[in-house]
Amino acid sequence: MDCIFCAIRDGEIPSPKLVENEFCYVIRDINPQAAVHLLVIAKPHVANIAEAVDECPELVSGMLKTAVECARQEGLEEGGYRLVTNLGENGCQSVKHLHIHVLGGEKLTENIGK
Ligand code: AMP
Repeated sequence: MDCIFCAIRDGEIPSPKLVENEFCYVIRDINPQAAVHLLVIAKPHVANIAEAVDECPELVSGMLKTAVECARQEGLEEGGYRLVTNLGENGCQSVKHLHIHVLGGEKLTENIGK
């Protein structure tokens, strides 16, 4: 299976990891959509948040905790930030390996839909 986030996890594609723990690792998005754009990426290959909630809910809480801690670490808490996870075609999920976007560092658009 060809999965870019598995390859980064395994060090086959170099990408500096800001944080790594039993649940996930965190990198900066290669194509940032905000001044700060982090990706909190599941360690195991799980396709999306729905699969994770069904099969390994502790992974979801571990990733959310990591996302909040990283946002705090990046100084985003005071100004606020956004957590996003896309699912499937309508959600425009391009990498089919669970990840949470952490967006902040500037005022984001009010429109988070289309
Ligand atoms: P999504 O569209 O929600 O699946 O998000 C996938 C994200 O992964 C996009 O924001 C991409 O810019 C990002 N991405 C893809 N490849 C890399 C990479 N090698 N390093 C960092 N971010 C990446």
